[in-house]
Amino acid sequence: MKLGIVGLPNVGKSTLFNSLTKAGALAANYPFATIDPNVGVVAVPDERLKVLTDMYHSKKTVPATIEFVDIAGLVKGASKGEGLGNQFLANIRECDAIVQVVRCFDDTNVVHVDGSVDPTRDIETINLELLFSDMEILERRYAKVQKQARNDKSLQKEVALLDRLRPFLEEGNQARTFECKDEDEEAIFNQYGLLTAKPIIYAANVAEDDLADEGASNDHVKAVREYAAKDGSAVYVVSAEIEQELSELDDEEKQMFLEDLGLKESGLDKLVKASYDLLGLISYLTSGEDETRAWTIVKGTKAPQAAGKIHTDFERGFICAETVAYKDLVENGGMAGAKEKGLVGLQGKDYVVKDGDVITFRFNV
Ligand code: GDP
Repeated sequence: MKLGIVGLPNVGKSTLFNSLTKAGALAANYPFATIDPNVGVVAVPDERLKVLTDMYHSKKTVPATIEFVDIAGLVKGASKGEGLGNQFLANIRECDAIVQVVRCFDDTNVVHVDGSVDPTRDIETINLELLFSDMEILERRYAKVQKQARNDKSLQKEVALLDRLRPFLEEGNQARTFECKDEDEEAIFNQYGLLTAKPIIYAANVAEDDLADEGASNDHVKAVREYAAKDGSAVYVVSAEIEQELSELDDEEKQMFLEDLGLKESGLDKLVKASYDLLGLISYLTSGEDETRAWTIVKGTKAPQAAGKIHTDFERGFICAETVAYKDLVENGGMAGAKEKGLVGLQGKDYVVKDGDVITFRFNV
C-alpha cells in the first residue's frame, strides 16, 4: 500500500518527504530502508507498542509501515505531456491514495510557480490535470466499448455507466464523488483506476506561527478546508520546515521542541496515522519476549488471513486466535488480570480482527 505525495513545485513536497523518511530512519533499530530515492518506508506512530514492549520486556519493537512516494514535477499541462507529465501521472496511478501538499505559507524568498500564494487555484490546477487524465482514459474506453456493445450485450452496462460518468467528470467533478448504481457498476468503475477516484488528504503546509491553532487564523488554510469539504476529504496542517527540524532530533528533544511549539504531537505523525486510515488499514498486535509488533491488515480481515500475515503456515493450520483488546489488557495490568475478568477470548475462523487486538494464534504445523 502506498501514498503518492503530489503538489505544485515549491510547495514543500520534498521537505515533507525527507522529514517522513528521516523520522522513520531515526526511530532506532527498525529496518527502514529506502528502496528508491523517491520511495520512503515510514513507521506508523503507535503509542501502544511502547507500552506493550515494556509490559512484555520485548527485545525488539517493530511498528507497522506504509510507503510514501515523492511524485515531483506535476505541473500545469502534465496531462498533455508537458514536462514529464504522463510519467508522473503513471506514478500516481500506481498509488493507492494521494497526499496533496498545498502551500499555505507566505515567504517571499520562496518563489511560487504562479507568482502568488493561492491554495484554491493550486489545488484546482493539480486536480484538473488528474481530471484531464481520467477523462482521456474514459474517452478511449468509450470509443472502444461503444462499438463492441452492438454485438456484445454484456458491454451495455458499461456504456450506460460511461454515459453518466463522462459528463460528470466534464462538469469538473472528481470521480471520488460519483455514485455507482450497483455492485456491477462499481466493479467496472474500479477497473479504470481513475486518479480522481483515489482517496485524498490535503496537507496544508503552514509557517511555524500557524501550528498552535491548526491554521484557524490563516485564510489560506480556511480555503483548503472549504475546498476539501466539498468532496469529503480531510485536511491536515503541517509545517514541512518544522518537521524537517523535528526529524533531526531524538525522541526526548522532539518532545521538548513540540511542547515549546504548544503541540502534543507532530503534524507529520498525525498525517501518517491519517494516511494509514485513509488506506483502510488497521493494526493488530503481537507481543512477547522476542518482539512486540504491529501487523497491518485491511479492515474486515478475518482471523486466519490476519494470521497469514505472520506466516502462511499460520493461516493454513489455523485453529483459533486468543485475543484481548489492547485497552482491556493494559487496564487490567496484563494477561492474567484480563483473563480473570473474562476479557480474553478464543476466536474461530470467522472472527473479524479489530484494531488493537493483541493476539496469540494457535495452529497446526
Ligand atoms: P517541492 O518542490 O514541492 O518539493 O518543494 P521543496 O520541499 O523543495 O521546497 C521548496 C522551497 O520551499 C525550499 O526552499 C524549502 O526550504 C521551502 N519550504 C518548504 N516548506 C516550507 C515551510 O513550511 N516554510 C517556509 N518558509 N519554506 C518552506
